[in-house]
Amino acid sequence: MNPIVRNIPSVSSIISDKRIEELSQEISTENVIYLVRKHLNSLRNKENLSLNEAQSESIVQEVLNLAKSEWPDWPIPVINGTGVILHTNLGRSPLSKSAIAASIKAAQGYSDLELDLETGKRGSRQKSIINILNQLTGSDDALVVNNTASALLLSLTSLAKGGEVIISRSQAIEIGGGFRIPDVLVQSGAKLIEVGTTNRTYVQDYVNAITENTKAILVMHASNYKVMGFTHEPKINELSEIAQNHQIPLIHDVGSGCIKDSTKFGLSPEPRPQDSINSGADICMFSGDKLLGGPQAGIIVGKKSYISKISKHPLSRAIRIDKINLAALYATLIHYIKDEVEENIPIWQMISTTQTSLLERAQTICDQINPEVSITKTSATIGGGSLPGETLDSYALKIESNTINDLSYKLRTTKNPIMSRIEDSCLLIDLMTIPPEFDEILIKELNRILI
Ligand SMILES: *Cc1c(COP(=O)(O)O)cnc(C)c1O
Repeated sequence: MNPIVRNIPSVSSIISDKRIEELSQEISTENVIYLVRKHLNSLRNKENLSLNEAQSESIVQEVLNLAKSEWPDWPIPVINGTGVILHTNLGRSPLSKSAIAASIKAAQGYSDLELDLETGKRGSRQKSIINILNQLTGSDDALVVNNTASALLLSLTSLAKGGEVIISRSQAIEIGGGFRIPDVLVQSGAKLIEVGTTNRTYVQDYVNAITENTKAILVMHASNYKVMGFTHEPKINELSEIAQNHQIPLIHDVGSGCIKDSTKFGLSPEPRPQDSINSGADICMFSGDKLLGGPQAGIIVGKKSYISKISKHPLSRAIRIDKINLAALYATLIHYIKDEVEENIPIWQMISTTQTSLLERAQTICDQINPEVSITKTSATIGGGSLPGETLDSYALKIESNTINDLSYKLRTTKNPIMSRIEDSCLLIDLMTIPPEFDEILIKELNRILI
């Protein structure tokens, strides 16, 4: 043991310091004792503890500092200049104004969340959203849970436990964050039957694999990677026919929940939930906070008999969606009903921004800042494991500097943090992912940092 440890003063001697007493008035004695203990413990465990660090004065200073850093404001809003629209580390999709308003309504007081105001009786929190989802996707029932990873686990557990699930070899994928389809199947208690090859799988491969133990066919949209060249996958309507003949469900995970036609925005076709249902999928699931542009949620739509089985499974209660996200999701879906997506949902506003307006903004910003900043054409991406390799033409502010990492650090740690990206040793701040109302703050921060 380091002999200096014996010099460390007691908790009581520290908390009797006048400055620490004042701190106790502010944040409570319990919290102060917690901080003092935490700091003293870290000193005791320190390898080369110095005499100075063990002295009362430096301990008091350190505890005062800790009090400032222990409970910081969180989360901190960030200006996303990365050009990645669905940036998972930055919270994926920002919400529309009415989705924000709806979530505030749900959060701030009591509401008719699970109550029918007409009859005064208990209702279902899913009721209103089921109608909207049926209207949008052509399904006849729906269930919303907390995310799509859990929606998949729930669907497989309730429909295929103890049986076999057939999946194409090219679709036994990892979605991200270590969430792998083979592992999900193990968790659900179903056996994975892989068919076909990595690049080509035919209808006949599925037919050959069906046994009396087959409980479902699973089709996963390969959201985050692309198999190109000599490839083949059966269509949903072909697989639906086989599933129907054998009276097993066809489960289709479309991933991003793109209800709009992505090709109208210069992107590759992204599978749409309504097309999946229309082609005969019995269960289709998708994410709330990817290309749907809403809050985190896992949306399951499909045939009544299957959805009802899924809803009744005990796991569905364990992964129930919370009221705040549900309210935001409802308001997001209303934009689709009203056909006002590009005007109101932030990610679709970004995707549909014109080149001209991006360039105009870039010029306006440049005129107001340091001459070292120039404008460059860039490629923004969708991100969030959607549409891999796809880019959208955009414009960025470009800063050349010998201390690029320093600059990127400064931008990240300023009062209004700005996330940039580095390309060819230049720092880029992509304007596609920055809503125009942030331009003023961006100008202020850049003028302060680039002196
Ligand atoms: C992203 C994704 C998921 C997971 O969705 P979360 O809502 O993030 O849980 C599942 N399946 C596919 C195909 C995906 O792309």
